[in-house]
Amino acid sequence: MRVSHKAYRLKSAISAVTIVNVGYRSTNYWVVSAGTSRLLVDLGWPGTMGTMRANLDRMGVPLKEIRYGLATHYHIDHAGLAQDLKLAGVPLLVLEPQVGAIPLMKRSTKPADHFTDITTHDNVVISVADSRAVLERISIAGEILHTPGHSDDSVSLLLDDGSIFTGDLTHPRLIGEDAASATAASSWRMLQERGATRVYPGHGPAHSLNLQALP
Ligand SMILES: [Zn+2]
Repeated sequence: MRVSHKAYRLKSAISAVTIVNVGYRSTNYWVVSAGTSRLLVDLGWPGTMGTMRANLDRMGVPLKEIRYGLATHYHIDHAGLAQDLKLAGVPLLVLEPQVGAIPLMKRSTKPADHFTDITTHDNVVISVADSRAVLERISIAGEILHTPGHSDDSVSLLLDDGSIFTGDLTHPRLIGEDAASATAASSWRMLQERGATRVYPGHGPAHSLNLQALP
């Protein structure tokens, strides 16, 4: 009895996460924390490290406690500070389906954006299948799933408590009938099957998952 009680408490401890938003310029940057072990989901606009630092400070998140940065996909409003964060000591966690998208990012930036190009030799590249074990090492219970639709390199973080961080995956209400929409719809269905209940998107407020509007 004592042993199983203890095991239960350990299991609760690993799933007790808090979620805060340190976003700006209409984009959400979510900090998922298990105590002082933290993961930053989506990584700022290019050239805005000062704003990111100020927002982390304001929300009581020490930069040095962020164990990884994860971009849901490599568009400039979601991965603009990936390299700046690496230089500040935050390793970049990259899923295998994202590797090819990283070198393409600089094409969609102008010199005035002050984008720091992302080096590719020093990232933490993992497979979707390994994501649960990697998250477990930073005390976060969940997995990272490939969820194409908005872009081929889009991934979502699904926590075991049902929270899902979806980046720009098309809002279920806005899904149409084109091919990209069909891909997005199947990503949503997969997320729901795997237990997603509450959506933390890249833009706009968090909302509960409701797929009744899907075609
Ligand atoms: Zn995007």
